[in-house]
Amino acid sequence: MTPEEFRRAGHQLIDWIVDYVEHVEERPVSSSVAPGDVLAALPTSPPTGVDSFDDVLADVDATIVPALTHWQHPRFFAYFPANSSYSSMLAELLSAGLGVNGMSWVTSPACTELEIRVVDWLGELLGLPARFASTGSGGGVIQGTASEATLVAILSARWRATAGAVNDDGDTSRLVAYITSQAHSSLEKGLRIAGIGTANTRIVAHDERFAMRPDALAAAVAADRAAGLVPFFVCSTRGTTSSMAFDPTPAIAEVARANDMWLHVDAAMAGIAALAPELRWVNDGLDGADSYCTNPHKWMGINFDCDVYWTADRAALLGALSILPEYLRSAAGASGAVDFRDWQIPLGRRFRSLKLWFGLRLDGIDTFRTRIREHVAVTQELAGWIADDPRFEIVAPHPLNLVCLRVADAAGGDAATERLVDEANATGTVLFTRTVLDDRPVLRVSVGGARTERRHVAEAWELVQSLVPAG
Ligand SMILES: *Cc1c(COP(=O)(O)O)cnc(C)c1O
Repeated sequence: MTPEEFRRAGHQLIDWIVDYVEHVEERPVSSSVAPGDVLAALPTSPPTGVDSFDDVLADVDATIVPALTHWQHPRFFAYFPANSSYSSMLAELLSAGLGVNGMSWVTSPACTELEIRVVDWLGELLGLPARFASTGSGGGVIQGTASEATLVAILSARWRATAGAVNDDGDTSRLVAYITSQAHSSLEKGLRIAGIGTANTRIVAHDERFAMRPDALAAAVAADRAAGLVPFFVCSTRGTTSSMAFDPTPAIAEVARANDMWLHVDAAMAGIAALAPELRWVNDGLDGADSYCTNPHKWMGINFDCDVYWTADRAALLGALSILPEYLRSAAGASGAVDFRDWQIPLGRRFRSLKLWFGLRLDGIDTFRTRIREHVAVTQELAGWIADDPRFEIVAPHPLNLVCLRVADAAGGDAATERLVDEANATGTVLFTRTVLDDRPVLRVSVGGARTERRHVAEAWELVQSLVPAG
C-alpha cells in the first residue's frame, strides 16, 4: 500500500465506520449465520496477488458484517457492554500510526509517563484511596483485561505470602485462595495458572443477595490455618457478572488483615460507576484492599482493551514479575524509571493510555457521568415496570444497571423463562443473556450500551411482555 493509497483508504474507512455506528440500530443485534458459514465464504487458499481496498471493503460488507454480533447496538442487553467511542477509535488509530512498543520507559518515555498520569487522573476521578497513587508505594497500570489484572494480583499475593520463595521453589502447595461461586471465571483460571488448584480454592458461602458471607470466610480461613495451610488471597467482587452482587469489602478486609491475606477487589464492570460521585459506594472498603481493577472498556466507553489495575503494594508486584535480562538493562531503569513490562504478563505493550487521554479530553468526564446516571435511572424504571407485572419476578437486588428477572411460576416458571430468552433473541431486535441463580434460569437485562437510551429499554420490555401470555 502506498502512502497515497493509505490516505485515501483511511478517509474512506472513517466514513464507513461513522455510517456503521450511526446506523447499527437498523440491523439485527445478532447474526443468524450457522457455524462454518463464514469459513465457507472465505477462499481456502491465501491471496496470491494484491486486491484493491474497495474489494476488501466490499467483502467486509458482504461476509464480515452479516456475521457480527453488534456490540454497539443500542438494544444489546447481553453480558456486560464493551463500548466504543469516536475519541478512542482515533486514539487506537494514532497508537497504530506511532507503532511504538512501550515495554520499558526507555523504549518510549511518553508511552510510560502519559499512562502514569492518566491512570492517576482516573484514580482521582473515581475517588480511589491515596494508597493506589503512583506517588506512594502503589500505582496503577493499564492491562488488556480484568482477567490479566486478576492474574497479576494472584501472582503478587503468592510472592508476598511466600516472602518471594515461590520464585525459586515454585511451591504453592500450602497456599489457599477464597472466592465465592459468583466470582468471575477469570478467578479460577488465574488461580489455576498460578498453581493453585481447585483443591486449594475455597468457595465461600454467599447470602441471599449473592454476596460473600464474611463469617463464612473467617471460619474457612481459621479451619485452613488450623490444618497448617496458608490462606493467601481473597477476592471481593463489586458487581458480579451474574447478578451484580456486591461482596462486603470492609468486612472481608478485616478478615484479610487479621490473617495476612492479599485482598483483591474485582470491580471490572461496576467500579467505573464511581465517576459519578453519588455512586462511589460501589468502591466502599478499598482502604483495606491490596489491589483493585475496573474496566474503562465496559461502561465508560473506552474501546476494548482497557482495564486499569491498581495496587497498594508495588514491591510485591515487582517481586513477582520483574525479570531483567541483559538485553533489557538500561540506565533509566537502573535510576528508578518505571518499566511497565514488570507490571504485566507480556513483555510488549501497546500505547493504550492514548485512549483514556483522548476520551477524558475529547468526550469529557460529564459525558461519562451522564451516561452512567441515565442508565441507572432507566434500569430502576424498568425494575418498577417488572415489579408491576405479576407475570414476572425480580430475583436479585438491582442497585445499578442490571436487572435479573424470571417468569413467575403461575405464568410458566423456569421453562417459560428459558423460552423467553430464546424467543426474544430470535427476533433480532434485542440480545439478552441468561444466567442461573439459586439453580433457576434467569434473564439478565444489562443496560450499559453507549447508545442505549430509555426508548430502547422500553422497546425491549414491550417485547418481553409480548412473549409471555397473560397468566
Ligand atoms: C467483565 C468482568 C470480568 C472479565 O473482564 P475481562 O476484561 O474480559 O477479562 C471480570 N470480572 C468482572 C466482575 C467482570 O464484570
